[in-house]
Amino acid sequence: MRRLTLAEVNHIRSIPGRSLLLYITDRCPVGCAHCSVDARGDSPTIRDFALFEDIVAGICAQPELTTIGISGGEPFVERRGLQIAIERLAAADKEIVLYTSGIWANAHVPAWIQQVLRPVSCVFLSTDAFHAAAIDDERFICAARTIAGLGVWVVVQVLKLPEMVNKAQDLLRRAFGEDYSQHAELSLIPPLPYGRGALVFHHKASRPGASFAACSALSAPVVRYDGQITACCNEQLIKGLGPERLRARCHSALDVDAALTGFRADPVLNIIGGVGAGALTEHPRFADLAEQPFSSICEFCWAAQSRAAAPEDADRLLSAMALMSQA
Ligand code: SF4
Ligand code: SF4
Repeated sequence: MRRLTLAEVNHIRSIPGRSLLLYITDRCPVGCAHCSVDARGDSPTIRDFALFEDIVAGICAQPELTTIGISGGEPFVERRGLQIAIERLAAADKEIVLYTSGIWANAHVPAWIQQVLRPVSCVFLSTDAFHAAAIDDERFICAARTIAGLGVWVVVQVLKLPEMVNKAQDLLRRAFGEDYSQHAELSLIPPLPYGRGALVFHHKASRPGASFAACSALSAPVVRYDGQITACCNEQLIKGLGPERLRARCHSALDVDAALTGFRADPVLNIIGGVGAGALTEHPRFADLAEQPFSSICEFCWAAQSRAAAPEDADRLLSAMALMSQA
């Protein structure tokens, strides 16, 4: 098992086709008030394990995919799916990055949890004031020590707000001492106004469509446990909202390959992920979006998808722009 740091994970995620995220459950008992995927204790989870195993096989069969993230919801509440995914991905020599809240941690961590953690290259462990309402300091510290004790690198994911960053650093000192950087590092993330987060955080001020840069999230698609594949990790797309052009449905391992190939060949996505979303407005079909205000690149992207050509409508200008994006 190769240990991956945050910089290495970010680098891999920036290379199109090298990584994807396997979203194994919508379910999570933690109940954070800011949850961007609106996960709940009774949210849906895997029902068709034969399909799930097929989908995992389809991921394992992609030779260029070196690194697979596993998230949810809380992956550890989907024990059977998590064990299947880890076992098959590790056997296929994939590097695994696991995202968790640490809700499973206590003084006696079950053997199956240790088995799941052992082949993982890196664990993203979330903490902030919202998580802390359900996960106390002792449980978080126990989770961090359990992961590090198995030789796995810990990335503590925390909202980029000064008081929350200070608290996370304090927790790491309590877990590992002053030289916690031997075991763990911080990843600072922006607040997301999606899911329940829409009630807590606000969208940024609007800006014109032409001003948006490239979308880096297109480098790593998301495969949901029930066969939905989305071109990126936009939370609303994962939850089934937004344009169908950014979504494919898989019923077998072969469909996984077809869906990933389809996204990689899409000229509109290549432009948004290459020269930049704003560059799309140089094309006459998208020109009126140049001055229109959008609160986020995703809002612009959704508007653009609604007027993108169907695959059979060859658009040579769009194809040329996409080719130049990849140059
Ligand atoms: S933010 Fe994470 S830990 Fe909190 S409710 Fe959502 S999925 Fe669960
Ligand atoms: S800009 Fe489009 S492709 Fe990128 S994350 Fe947003 S919805 Fe996904």
